[in-house]
Amino acid sequence: MIKKMKTLDWFELFLIILFPLLIPLLWWLVSPLTDTMVSLGVIFVAQIFVAFSLFLIAKKQRNREEETNVFAKVAMNSSFLSLYERSPIPYLVISHRGEILQFNPAAVNLFKTEVSALTGLNLFDQLVSEGRDLSVLLGKISSGLTINEAKVGFRTIAGDERWVSLSVYAYEPKTQRLVSLTDITTEKLVDTAKSEFVALATHQLRTPISAIRWNLELLQRYLKDSKTPEMEKYLHKIERNTMRMIALINDFLSVSKLESGSFATNFENLDLTTFFTTITDEYTEKIAEKNITLVTSYNPENFVFKTDKRLLHIIVSNLVSNAVKYINPNGRIDLSYEMIGNELYIKVSDDGIGIPEDDLPKMFSKFFRASNALAIQAEGTGLGLYVVKQSVEKLGGSLSLETAENQGASFTIVLPLL
Ligand code: ADP
Repeated sequence: MIKKMKTLDWFELFLIILFPLLIPLLWWLVSPLTDTMVSLGVIFVAQIFVAFSLFLIAKKQRNREEETNVFAKVAMNSSFLSLYERSPIPYLVISHRGEILQFNPAAVNLFKTEVSALTGLNLFDQLVSEGRDLSVLLGKISSGLTINEAKVGFRTIAGDERWVSLSVYAYEPKTQRLVSLTDITTEKLVDTAKSEFVALATHQLRTPISAIRWNLELLQRYLKDSKTPEMEKYLHKIERNTMRMIALINDFLSVSKLESGSFATNFENLDLTTFFTTITDEYTEKIAEKNITLVTSYNPENFVFKTDKRLLHIIVSNLVSNAVKYINPNGRIDLSYEMIGNELYIKVSDDGIGIPEDDLPKMFSKFFRASNALAIQAEGTGLGLYVVKQSVEKLGGSLSLETAENQGASFTIVLPLL
């Protein structure tokens, strides 16, 4: 209020104070000089004049406020600009085709170059595919979609290869994008070393585990008719735990291969209906045990889709396995694929225990298991969904989840047609 008063000039203040006093003042001045009608007319004209002046004052005041807002915005923008300028995180403004239009000093450091060499350079040319198809990522950037922390290889102008976490946001004008690039080379190296160790260890474990499994089968065959119920119970326990260990080792191997980038993709044509049926056949026994209704919908039937068979198997098999595991007896699972435009939509839904809202942000992280899954003690490693996410990304697709606790979970995978 005080601020507003300060922006009024003296004439405006005079008019505002005058307005309530106007009628008595004019009456006092004019009425002794002339008759009543003329006095009223003078008062009327004077009032119109003052009201019009007040209207102009209000308009002027509004203009002043707008101006102040514009100045505030400009000040805000410039303080944001100085934040970007001083930020240790490299920021770029690029065109939708990847040309670098603006950058901060941290970006110049990351590119290991001079300011002059960065203007006009194409960011897309500096991203390294590392055996991954980058066309989907670049397509998303060009079409204005938000990218959150995609991990990609990056080549500096000096030729060094590094890893960056790339985020891309909309920017004004609409043809431009704001990009942040965080150097994660050190974390990636540590991660790769960890993955290599896990790959080596699990690989070494495979041989003895396979030997246990073989010998167990031989023993079961040998004792076929002479097993006591006690022996049967122990043999069943050994078998169950051996299978758990094999599943764990396979999960570890997939994770380390996908993380280290050593998972060589091999694209081939697959009949999707046959492929999906092979996977559901793997779960026939468990589906019958829990009396689950499995509803499938394949559209179009026998669609031939070009993809990496092992990756698609990891994706569908893990989702179906989870649906079977986290569903209540007598529940229902819906499994479908559908071609919509140039994309394949795969959906796996169940009406099981669902996922509590608090656990959702961590759902696709390594080793994470939701509190309700831990409570029912269903066996698991917490690696399945992580491997699914890695596989979907490797195929250039996207993944989404709709769920509510005790109301089931529905996973949708969208894969591009190659
Ligand atoms: P796990 O080996 O524990 O099943 P996953 O990575 O496959 O590991 O899944 C991680 C967690 O996600 C599970 O422990 C469970 O809490 C939750 N989850 C996955 N799928 C479902 C589902 N269909 N319904 C309910 N919870 C699920």
